[in-house]
Amino acid sequence: MKKVDWRFNNSYTHLPSSLFSRLNPVPVASPHIILLNDRLAHQLGLDFSELSEHDLAALCSGNVLPEGAVPIAQAYAGHQYGHFTILGDGRAILLGEHLAPDGQRVDIQLKGSGRTPYSRQGDGRAALGPMLREYLISEAMHALGISTTRSLAVVATGEAIFRGTELPGAILTRVAASHMRVGTFEYAAMQNDIELLKAITKYTINRHYPHLSHSENPALELLKAVMEKQIILITDWMRVGFVHGVMNTDNMTISGETIDYGPCAFIDAYDSKAVFSSIDRYGRYAFGNQANIAEWNLSRFAEALLPLFDADQATAIKMAEEVLGSFSALYQKQYLSMMRNKLGLLGEENEDNILINDLLVWMQEKKADYTNTFYSLVRGNFLNNDSWHQRWQNRLARNQQSREVSLAVMRANNPAVIPRNHKVEEVLKAASEEGNLIPLNRFLEVLSKPYDDEHPDLAEYQTPSKSKCTYQTFCGT
Ligand code: AMP
Ligand code: MG
Repeated sequence: MKKVDWRFNNSYTHLPSSLFSRLNPVPVASPHIILLNDRLAHQLGLDFSELSEHDLAALCSGNVLPEGAVPIAQAYAGHQYGHFTILGDGRAILLGEHLAPDGQRVDIQLKGSGRTPYSRQGDGRAALGPMLREYLISEAMHALGISTTRSLAVVATGEAIFRGTELPGAILTRVAASHMRVGTFEYAAMQNDIELLKAITKYTINRHYPHLSHSENPALELLKAVMEKQIILITDWMRVGFVHGVMNTDNMTISGETIDYGPCAFIDAYDSKAVFSSIDRYGRYAFGNQANIAEWNLSRFAEALLPLFDADQATAIKMAEEVLGSFSALYQKQYLSMMRNKLGLLGEENEDNILINDLLVWMQEKKADYTNTFYSLVRGNFLNNDSWHQRWQNRLARNQQSREVSLAVMRANNPAVIPRNHKVEEVLKAASEEGNLIPLNRFLEVLSKPYDDEHPDLAEYQTPSKSKCTYQTFCGT
């Protein structure tokens, strides 16, 4: 096989061995490439152009290991729908950490790569549809400017898997700042081994928040830093109408990247109660509840870190409560600033949150399309809501800067196109059931410039679904 410029440096394998299991991906029958992300490969300094299709598929399926890889499955735990469980990579293998030319250290992980010691009842595999879905939506999120894991490739394995019915198997190559989760800390904490907890905390700070390493209380500063990252992330989700759908603590990263694109979906009509996941019966992970859940998850993170805050538990709890007590105000501030941007409101006026809220109430009542409502405002179209529109215009007139500045802010914060559910389904169906990749690739191209409203095919992707059925998503298991 021709050489690829992998630069692996696998720091995670130097952590205590209880945090992972060393094993290789389980080989698959006859892999072939479905998608390859050339732009991301280039950014990572990886040139696959000399490889034959066959060799590339062997590499992206784990049949052949890249030079320097030390494959592991990571151990972690998590609160799923509020209940604590021991988990771990049940169908993923971390090949290692690659150093990109820009100095960035990224995890290269294969998802769907076979059974591991953490697979429980699962088969360790993934279906083609859900892996293409993760590729599509994670890349769309990246283009929207939202912190996320990336997708480098999808290969079909040539093997069938069973999910009630027979489906084509696939493996996704996921690229992430790391795969450390709140659940990783919960796992370390439950071992009742303070040295282990110290080791993973020190490692995380070095890797993601090195500026904190010399602070007086690094673990407490880590909690604050992760909280700030999550507030930015959730606000970004709210900006584009993204519903993650399964915000279990094992699906919340320490790096602040969006991870795990199982049952996620974008809202069409604005609805703070929007839920798409078939198993989220009580709306725990509803669109408007995401900040609350992030706060809940951060409390689990704080609990895990508690022994490092202070040797005295009561003191440690007080410290944690003080940090977590600021979540709500910090989030509100970030959310308000994001909404001001969407509406082009420069500077701050006390009444801004009323103006914003009135629009949301109106949208909820009218079941107005979230993305298209804001897009209309960018285009200068009137909403069918004269009194609100007049108030908004009056507020814009009080901006201290030009109309152009305000418009540029609006353009940068309101996408012209998002991965609408019915379009996602349409292109995935063509790809996974009919083997037709053209609609998927066209969609990926449009989604790569979501703020660009010059694209000739835009209208086709902006129309909300005509279907009256509620869209349902399923965990990609
Ligand atoms: P998720 O819902 O994707 O966050 O997965 C939750 C947990 O279940 C993780 O530990 C996964 O590794 C594991 N898991 C999901 N699907 C499978 C599968 N097909 N085989 C084994 N483990 C799985
Ligand atoms: Mg997960």
